[in-house]
Amino acid sequence: MISEILKGNLTEKEVEIKGWIHNKRSSGSIVFFIIRDGSGIIQAVGKKDELKNFEEIEKLTLESSIKIKGIVKKEERAPGGYEVEIKEMNILQRADEDFPFMRKHKFNVNFIMKNRHLWLRSEKMFKVLTIRSEVIQQIRNWFLENGYKEFQSPIFVSGACEGGSTLFEVNYFGRKAYLTQSWQLYAEAAIFSLGKIFTIAPSFRAEKSKTRRHLTEYWHVEAEIPFCGLDDLLKEEESLVCYVCNKIGEKFENWLKEFGRDAKYLKGLSPPFPRIKYKEAIEILQNKNVNIQYGNDLGADEEKILTQEFETPFFVTHFPKGIKAFYHKIDRENPNVTLSADLLAPEGYGEIIGSGEREDNYQILKKRVEEEGLSVKEYKWYLDLRRYGSVQHSGFGLGLERFIMWICKLKHIRETIAFPRLIGKIHF
Ligand code: ATP
Ligand code: MN
Repeated sequence: MISEILKGNLTEKEVEIKGWIHNKRSSGSIVFFIIRDGSGIIQAVGKKDELKNFEEIEKLTLESSIKIKGIVKKEERAPGGYEVEIKEMNILQRADEDFPFMRKHKFNVNFIMKNRHLWLRSEKMFKVLTIRSEVIQQIRNWFLENGYKEFQSPIFVSGACEGGSTLFEVNYFGRKAYLTQSWQLYAEAAIFSLGKIFTIAPSFRAEKSKTRRHLTEYWHVEAEIPFCGLDDLLKEEESLVCYVCNKIGEKFENWLKEFGRDAKYLKGLSPPFPRIKYKEAIEILQNKNVNIQYGNDLGADEEKILTQEFETPFFVTHFPKGIKAFYHKIDRENPNVTLSADLLAPEGYGEIIGSGEREDNYQILKKRVEEEGLSVKEYKWYLDLRRYGSVQHSGFGLGLERFIMWICKLKHIRETIAFPRLIGKIHF
């Protein structure tokens, strides 16, 4: 595997690589290939006087699949610092000439979306999706190291969690069901059995406006924790975010640099993150002449301005109850606000986590359901949870793609996922 070669333990050894011709240049008697094998990318050199099929090899098309045997050499000038001197090359399949993505050209978004199945092979996608895989792995590590169990909830659901306007409706044997927006309500039922739980699962939102940070199908990292209040919740969130950023910074220094992200920054992140209350956020914005009133939700534009005040992710807490879903716990000291918190990433990225304490009092929750015009009957099962051993509990939801977008300093959320589902069209 190329990744093993790049670690430096195979220098001067013979290796076999099965992969694809990522790029190629030739000078008549010597041909330089860039080879990709799923684990990494490396330069391989073939010489006319050493290879019996040199002429065929020299004419090979990009993306042809090949098998090579060769010797690993240290080579400072090659990307990654190593190259392979090819001793033997077998062609597995010669790719057609018309591969749509010739390297080093620029392609427009529409073309990329239509040819996504082939665009996955680009260096950018290879690197981002490799980092994505590692981010998921590290998230799971953190949860398991911290005593959480992994729990799955249904994708078909009967009611809204995050508000009706972004629900995807499906026909479920003649009655209405929806695609889940969040596992939360089910998770709240499960903590009474399992204790601290987490999931990494898709959530669906029929987003009505086109933005850089909304998908209609995204991966949601969610946690639900019994016997946990807002302060402890924020500690869990910042611990998870720092853990993952530290690991990714350590593992992908060079790739992150190519994306414009300094790995030192990620490695240096440590708790605690700054905390401001919603009220202070509004004051900061008003002092900057932003036209916003107490009670308005923070949109992408407002969040962007707030992020200029911070170098690290930061929490905005205690949102007024009017802009948060019915299940948020009312602050007993100030009944106009909820014990809620969003975590915002700096550099204009904005919200990556939504979280808070859940209302655990039966009467207050029932009143909130009614106030929001929801059906008490439909939420009976959810209200039940406040009747049988109710406890203070909290949870959070982190958008995996938002997190990766910020870590890798990407401009658009579609760059963080293989086959993005965006407002409008599904290409395939
Ligand atoms: P926003 O105001 O940015 O739409 P939200 O308040 O709807 O976010 P929550 O309901 O709190 O978000 O969801 C938890 C997290 O899920 C968010 O912090 C974000 O990281 C992520 N998220 C929400 N909606 C989307 C989406 N459409 N695409 C990608 N990630 C999303
Ligand atoms: Mn939203």
